[in-house]
Amino acid sequence: MPLYEFRCKSCSKTFDDKETFAEHDKHPELKCPHCGSKDVEPVITPVEVRTSKKS
Ligand SMILES: [Zn+2]
Repeated sequence: MPLYEFRCKSCSKTFDDKETFAEHDKHPELKCPHCGSKDVEPVITPVEVRTSKKS
């Protein structure tokens, strides 16, 4: 499952918010949980974590 990450331009902190993303249509304005700023941008991280391979 991909992880949707956002970065706050105000405090430069990143956060993932799956719930908010799921309701993106209803709540297009995201807020930073750290400082409450709405100046956030989505960060698409090409994460490919393969944990199924155990040797
Ligand atoms: Zn912030």
